[in-house]
Amino acid sequence: MSPSGPDFFAEGDLVGVLTTQPLDRLLDYRAPEGGCHVGAFVEVPLGPRKVPGVVWGPGRGDFDISKVRQVLRVLDVAPMRAELQEFLRRAADYTLTPMPAMLRLATRAPGLSNPPSMQKIYRSGPAAPDRMTDARRRVLAVLSEYGALSFTLGELAEQAGVTTSVIKGLVKQGAVLEEDCPRDLPFPQLDPALGGKDLTDDQSSAAATLCAALRGGGYGTTLLRGVTGSGKTEVYLEAVAETLRQGRQALVLLPEIALTSEFLTRIEARFGARPAEWHSGVTMTERRRTWKMLGEGGCQVVVGARSALFLPFRDLGLIVVDEEHDTSYKQEDGVLYNARDMAVLRASICGAQVVLASATPSLESWANAEAGKYTRLDLTARFGAAVMPQMRAIDMRSETLPASRWISPSLQAAVTARVEVGEQALLFINRRGYAPVTLCRACGHQIGCDHCDARMVEHRFQQRLVCHQCGETKAVPKACPSCGVEDKLAAVGPGVERLTEEAQALFPQARIATLSSDLFGSARALKEQIRAIAEGDTDIVIGTQLVAKGHNFPRLTLVGVIDADLGLQGSDLRAAERTFQLMRQVAGRAGRTEKPGTALLQTFQPEHPVIRAILSGDEEGFWRAEAEERRHAGVPPYGRMAGIILSSTDAREVFDFATELARRDAPLRAVGAQVFGPAPAPIARIRGRHRVRLLVKAARGVALQGAVAQWVAQLKPPGQLRLSIDIDPQSF
Ligand code: ADP
Ligand code: ZN
Repeated sequence: MSPSGPDFFAEGDLVGVLTTQPLDRLLDYRAPEGGCHVGAFVEVPLGPRKVPGVVWGPGRGDFDISKVRQVLRVLDVAPMRAELQEFLRRAADYTLTPMPAMLRLATRAPGLSNPPSMQKIYRSGPAAPDRMTDARRRVLAVLSEYGALSFTLGELAEQAGVTTSVIKGLVKQGAVLEEDCPRDLPFPQLDPALGGKDLTDDQSSAAATLCAALRGGGYGTTLLRGVTGSGKTEVYLEAVAETLRQGRQALVLLPEIALTSEFLTRIEARFGARPAEWHSGVTMTERRRTWKMLGEGGCQVVVGARSALFLPFRDLGLIVVDEEHDTSYKQEDGVLYNARDMAVLRASICGAQVVLASATPSLESWANAEAGKYTRLDLTARFGAAVMPQMRAIDMRSETLPASRWISPSLQAAVTARVEVGEQALLFINRRGYAPVTLCRACGHQIGCDHCDARMVEHRFQQRLVCHQCGETKAVPKACPSCGVEDKLAAVGPGVERLTEEAQALFPQARIATLSSDLFGSARALKEQIRAIAEGDTDIVIGTQLVAKGHNFPRLTLVGVIDADLGLQGSDLRAAERTFQLMRQVAGRAGRTEKPGTALLQTFQPEHPVIRAILSGDEEGFWRAEAEERRHAGVPPYGRMAGIILSSTDAREVFDFATELARRDAPLRAVGAQVFGPAPAPIARIRGRHRVRLLVKAARGVALQGAVAQWVAQLKPPGQLRLSIDIDPQSF
């Protein structure tokens, strides 16, 4: 950009700056020496402090002009493009989020400070250390794993959990190299002409459609549906290649990105270089570099978590949302947004293509494809010799099991048969910990959390009771806290740890690994375990939903679901969809290579329509039935919804406030929307705060946000009462 033109403010001009401070308007400042562009990232004085901000547009000049202060400095990064400004504005309107909070999402990671232009970074060196210690081993492990990333001394020490002197010792010996590195080092070029696979007919026609859409230019969304292992990734990598050929940038969103180094290796094999990564495990140094390089075109592809949607791309041409149905795309605290929907919004603003990939799409995306809003592409078969696993029910009504046992004789026999021939089995239960309930056999009391409306879950490996809502832990008491009788507390129901204990007893010869997010101190330790399993060091994997996602275990041929009915309890209208997706995903872990797989579902209700659909694999039928039910109930995607969660330490206060708000529903009625409640929120108390929910329902065409904003603005929440608005809530 040249320092002139309509987007440029000369020194002393009035500019309106959006800051990350919770103020409801832009603040006027004078442009600094040398002037600044619209979108410039700046630092401004606010009272006695310096705060970060973005030059959003011209100033309003409605202040006392003599008091207007000057922008302190302009940061050395490309100004925010109009496209990103517009995206933040529209995302704020959609989610009813104040602009400063939206800007925090877009600027949080790099911290808007100006780091030095040169920095020291650390890489593995050629020499071996004279003496290996645990601390040294950890440093080398971090460096070999994050080989492509750069670290400052402090960051490396933190990642490895060592003091900086350990690293300096390794540098002295040549086992670690310390290099001067410019902060603005561009990423290595990805080459679209390298390493593409020969695609099957199905795959190449899907890839051709995507590439044609990209060449056509402009916005469009495609739902790429295909069973696990059908080669969806191969197909969308072709779309990434086309984007690179056009000189534009691509973003690939993955759930659980911190665990999927396999994917980065795949990109490297395809394009000859690693992409930038963006997630909570990435160092600040690397984030700053990514952030700056994206704006200057020195970074072509980002693989990231949902927050990557807010990055300052220079020319974003493609967004892939892999496993688009995954519930972790919904951010559930702070700004409540669904990354899938925001991806579509950003693409529609910047003229990019979106690919939503899934074996089990969300009903929302399926319905959008049905309605012709999205293009739909289907891959129907697994790649190569692999076939979808056979699915069968184990009818638990006719299995005889001793008390407190969950692996049926049929499942046990199947596991034994697989392990004997050197294949792997996965036992799946979607519950962390040892047992969900700790019950006093003398008085019937169940141990609950002191701060939440939730039961404490026993974690026997840690020897603690843990609240899954607030994280509070306590020792397992000897006597019942209610009646005082000793030694009568009993663990009731299965969790992943208890299942491990049972499997150890049933299969004493087998090598067993338990995968549950809470059992690992770090993402790296967990990743290590996943790699060990993939390499075959395990006979039986016991896991929570962590294992349902994307990991490829080539020797795994049997999946046993301990309780297929678990997700179907409760009144949530999305329960059927979630159970269907989870079960099909878990089953998809089996038989990913030439050995055929089997999935066995333990259930007490094999006739349940959802269980039947899971077993038959009749996805179209399932979606149609689900769609019919939702249409009938007038809920998303056939109606609009907003959840209002009100919370306070005072139960009376929050209930009274909610009741009063519900009574003043005129702004909602004006657009034909209806309010339901107040009712206790799905979890009625968390961290000592009582939670009440109101649900607003409207027909599909209604502009719900405006009405909701007007409605809640009528009443000012008293002191410590908090109100949060969730447009398109996940559960209803
Ligand atoms: P999905 O993303 O649908 O689960 P993937 O793209 O991961 O499927 O493909 C499953 C496996 O099959 C991967 O190991 C992939 O490398 C391999 N594969 C898929 N298509 C091809 C192809 N055309 N040529 C060679 N290997 C392929
Ligand atoms: Zn709690």
